[in-house]
Amino acid sequence: MKTTLLTELTVKDICEGFVYNELEASGLYGWAGKLTIQPEYQRNYIYADGKKDVAVIESLLKSYPLGLIYFVKTKSGQYEVLDGQQRITSFGRFVTDKFAIMSSGNTPQIFSGLPNDKQKLILNSHLTIYVCEGEESEIKEWFKTINIAGVPLVQQELLNSVYSGPFVTLAKAEFSNSHNSNMQKWQSYIKGSPERQGILEVALKWVCKGECDVGEYMSRHRNDNNINELKTYFNSVIDWISSVFIDVKKEMCGLEWGRLYEKFHKTPYNQKEISKRVNELYEDYAVTCHKGIFEYILGGEIDPKLLNIRLFDDRIKKKVYARQTNEAKEKGISNCPYCAIGNNSYRTKIWNLKDMDADHVQAWSKGGVTDEANCQMLCKAHNRSRGNA
Ligand SMILES: [Zn+2]
Repeated sequence: MKTTLLTELTVKDICEGFVYNELEASGLYGWAGKLTIQPEYQRNYIYADGKKDVAVIESLLKSYPLGLIYFVKTKSGQYEVLDGQQRITSFGRFVTDKFAIMSSGNTPQIFSGLPNDKQKLILNSHLTIYVCEGEESEIKEWFKTINIAGVPLVQQELLNSVYSGPFVTLAKAEFSNSHNSNMQKWQSYIKGSPERQGILEVALKWVCKGECDVGEYMSRHRNDNNINELKTYFNSVIDWISSVFIDVKKEMCGLEWGRLYEKFHKTPYNQKEISKRVNELYEDYAVTCHKGIFEYILGGEIDPKLLNIRLFDDRIKKKVYARQTNEAKEKGISNCPYCAIGNNSYRTKIWNLKDMDADHVQAWSKGGVTDEANCQMLCKAHNRSRGNA
């Protein structure tokens, strides 16, 4: 790979013919058409938060260097931004009056409203640019290494860069576009932002069904001119969730829906009954893990561990312990009711509070509640052997 250092280019040169697409949040071209600011393997512009973009301009106004910028020179003689896209898009948008900075008087100031000397200061700032030429694979490998600085690329952004091609382009158009009309629905079940490839990441994970690695899948489909399989599978999962659970609860967001779909989508469910149970469990004081409610119901309500059933508090434990112990001492038997009916030396053993645990006399799953009347203290061994909730 060949690299050349350019130190003569200024902000003004790069901003010549700057084109920015507000809808897709990407800077597209600059340097009078010679430069592609957002090639396929780059992520969307994420500096537009009124802080990072403003910081870029403030650095220029203080004549601080913006750091190294990397371009790739393609075989056709064009240039692509390899690293520096966020910084270039920030100053490109600023000099085209797309956002304001705060002046010393604390009023918003756009570029065209700045005094002439400050405008010149920004436009004449020199940039330090490395241009590299070489094979795609070595450039991409190198891109992985340099991107440890700044806002690091997330795993999916790296994969998009490594497997860039028609498949990634189509997949991003579907899953990484925050203007997609389905986005709101998707985001009630999936955590992560479309801009940082959070939805695409999940879509790929689902379609792999744990049978293959996401990178492997992307490499296999890299040159596909459609994303049919990915899209169909994704929509099947989403449709399944929303048809089984008619209520949308915030705890549904980020669950392992792909796994749950594979495990349960062939089981028939009664929507109304499910909705009733979801709401009953939400209102059940004993249920402390609301995230677990969905899998618990899908699995036929046989695994209360998913719900992390509330335990008895110390006040109840102490009260029940005192009562059981007093009664046991009067009768000359163990204060663990299970030890008391046994045939060994523990039959008369009086356990200390710290050696006992609280147990639901009637299991929660069989309708027992977490209150004093349904609490019994058992020695640890017997409590473990009961082991239900
Ligand atoms: Zn016992």
